[in-house]
Amino acid sequence: MLRLAIQKSGRLSDDSAALLRAAGIVFGNGSSRLLRSAASNFPLELLFLRDDDIPEYVEEGVVDVGIVGENVVLEKGKSVQTIERLGFGRCRLSLALPKNAPFQDLRDLQGKRIATSYVRILQQFLDRNGIQADIHEISGAVEITPSLGLADAICDLVSTGSTLLANGLREVATVLESEALLIATPALAPEKQDILDRLLFRLRANRNAKRHRYILLNAPNDRLETIAALIPGMKSPTVLPLAEPGWSSLHSVISEEVFWDVLEQLKAAGAEGILVAPLERMIV
Ligand code: ATP
Ligand code: ZN
Repeated sequence: MLRLAIQKSGRLSDDSAALLRAAGIVFGNGSSRLLRSAASNFPLELLFLRDDDIPEYVEEGVVDVGIVGENVVLEKGKSVQTIERLGFGRCRLSLALPKNAPFQDLRDLQGKRIATSYVRILQQFLDRNGIQADIHEISGAVEITPSLGLADAICDLVSTGSTLLANGLREVATVLESEALLIATPALAPEKQDILDRLLFRLRANRNAKRHRYILLNAPNDRLETIAALIPGMKSPTVLPLAEPGWSSLHSVISEEVFWDVLEQLKAAGAEGILVAPLERMIV
């Protein structure tokens, strides 16, 4: 049985649960007062915790793996291993100043009072940049401290920046780009590692599927080679003869990132009847 901690209620909760459900894992939800739930069809037990507690629980082996923001992992400084970057819960830890305060570069922060909940990450950032500032640890509502005269600057999590704007602040530097991580205890027992590997296999199959599309098209045989080279797929495209002489059907997968560019090139190379479909799972 592998024990996995996810955030009980907060910004990472829904995406964490959705990730596991998409991997075919069936479990009760953490929105009730329930703090743990055993999956009914996979050797996994879920614990619903405050995100701040997850790195420590993982380090100590109370849970084997956890899903938590990189910002929390780095701030807690526990010894855990990062298994996978999960691509959700994206945000940045930024420095912000009152919008009329002058700012040219980081040296303007020298000797200033900076309020944050991320003392460790901020201290490391300032050290790297040779800045000495006075860090004030605040546990919440950091963005109001400048208007109260408690700080000259803040260092806080931002996703759209609208909270900063509403508080008359402007972002001047990014300290960290963060996303949700799957972390694990440093010494995982072999039987737990096997379960984790099965889980990772499923997560990666889903992620690959999301990043690719299935493509089929018709190609005149005299252009087959050029067109096939544009959609190499996982090994090479499948080529099937059409009933109409001189034509073939090509099937392949194509990465989301290059999708539109390649589509234009395929058309220009003489491809016709191009169909594109989402993929459910992709095992490379
Ligand atoms: P808990 O009650 O579990 O301690 P919390 O209030 O500390 O919750 P949330 O606000 O739910 O935490 O944020 C959880 C994580 O979501 C953050 O640590 C961060 O990794 C991520 N996140 C994504 N976007 C944002 C954002 N705009 N502001 C804050 N966190 C964000
Ligand atoms: Zn928290």
